[in-house]
Amino acid sequence: MAQDVSSYDIARNEKFGRYLVANKDLEAGELIFTDKPFAFGPKPDSPPLCLGCYCPVQGTLCSRCGWPICGAECEAAPAHAAECSVFAAAKVRFQPPDDWTASSPQLDCITPLRMLLAKERDPERWKRELEPMETHAAARQERPAWAADQVNVVGFLTDHCRLGARFDKELVQRVCGILEVNAVEIPSRGGFSIRAVYPQLAIAAHSCVPNIVHTILQNDYEVQVRAAVGIPSGAALHLCYTHVLSPTPTRRDYLLESKFFACDCPRCADPTELGSHLSTLKCSKCDNGVILCNNPLDNESPWQCTDKNCGFQTSSAAMRKMLAVVQAEVDQLDALEGTQAIEMREATLKKYKSVFHPRHGVLLSLKHALATMYGRVEGYGIDELPDLLLERKVELCRLVLDTLQIVAPGETRMRGLMLYELHAPVMFLARSEFSAGLIDQDKLKERLQEPIRLLAEASKILGREDPQSPEGITGEIARQSMEQLQASIEAL
Ligand SMILES: [Zn+2]
Ligand SMILES: [Zn+2]
Ligand SMILES: [Zn+2]
Ligand SMILES: [Zn+2]
Repeated sequence: MAQDVSSYDIARNEKFGRYLVANKDLEAGELIFTDKPFAFGPKPDSPPLCLGCYCPVQGTLCSRCGWPICGAECEAAPAHAAECSVFAAAKVRFQPPDDWTASSPQLDCITPLRMLLAKERDPERWKRELEPMETHAAARQERPAWAADQVNVVGFLTDHCRLGARFDKELVQRVCGILEVNAVEIPSRGGFSIRAVYPQLAIAAHSCVPNIVHTILQNDYEVQVRAAVGIPSGAALHLCYTHVLSPTPTRRDYLLESKFFACDCPRCADPTELGSHLSTLKCSKCDNGVILCNNPLDNESPWQCTDKNCGFQTSSAAMRKMLAVVQAEVDQLDALEGTQAIEMREATLKKYKSVFHPRHGVLLSLKHALATMYGRVEGYGIDELPDLLLERKVELCRLVLDTLQIVAPGETRMRGLMLYELHAPVMFLARSEFSAGLIDQDKLKERLQEPIRLLAEASKILGREDPQSPEGITGEIARQSMEQLQASIEAL
């Protein structure tokens, strides 16, 4: 629910349908509203997860209904109570799979069922906040997901679980549409990501350069929505529905496929992505030009070298195919652990150095991962890193921060985490130069002011996260580190 005195209005236009507008000047970091989920639960194709805490389970089932539950405490979880009675009454049990870690469609019915049961409990809220939601029914009917939902969710709930008299098939399919179009992915207490519908947040329109951020509190999955930057009264509030560091073709394909619209925001319309170059390639035929899309809003538009004398050109289809191949290769690196995780990423960066602009989204995601790994992975601990690798970590953090400044400006979680990552190598490099006699004590004190500023901002931004979440914990560590560093400077 919105706050009593709200700092936003709901507006309506042809392009966005309903959207949110600031009705007063908002400062960066200012809380705009909080919202409770109408329902939350597993994402489609989840492996068996506990229906109380969403941690993966290996064969433990609820003693009443026979669906995945990790233990007695979760069996009594309020979120599970209503569906537990439904399954127990219908005697419909979860079918134990051969592989408990593999994704399965069995849990696809849970979140829609919770939506339906929440509608029964609170018909007023349903009418006020869920009824007006967009479901893109006509477009969805063309997709394979519609037919899958028809079997795994609609048929399963109405026939198998004998709920047909309480909820008609059309309503169940509509709930599937509301979830597909409006649900957001959120972290669960068990660490696994789940989905939730926040009616107010869902009204915020999308932009690939968002001006609001949202944080999920772990206790009851309440969402807090804040201004990321100063927002003038009358401006639309924009959330980014996709990964901000992805290149334009990847973002636009995702938005069209899963959110049913072709984004034409200023970032998508600009071949250089506002100068961030997240989708720019290097030209293999000349040294002077880079390859940009002629018209990024047209999926058929060719990509061309900017050097007029070169004239190199490639089709949009070839470009997308190449991106998909490299992305699949990069995704495989997620499975690596330890020193390999770092070394293989560096090797991949080297391999594609001559293909992509240094800030291309594919390379930047690798650099973002490396910025966090240096100083944390065993064998690459922060006090074992030679100056050269400390400098590498500094370079990677600054590159990500500079890019965020363009595509996701302001006080974002990602910025807070990168500022925290950056403070350590800056601090270690200053101390290392002091030990080597390259700088005197006054200069050292001066150089240590930067990590203090970085920690101060990191703790301010991350202090807004749930204190029990990884980001919230990092925020608290940043605050303590800043105090220790200040004390150590005073003792110099
Ligand atoms: Zn549990
Ligand atoms: Zn149960
Ligand atoms: Zn866009
Ligand atoms: Zn060229």
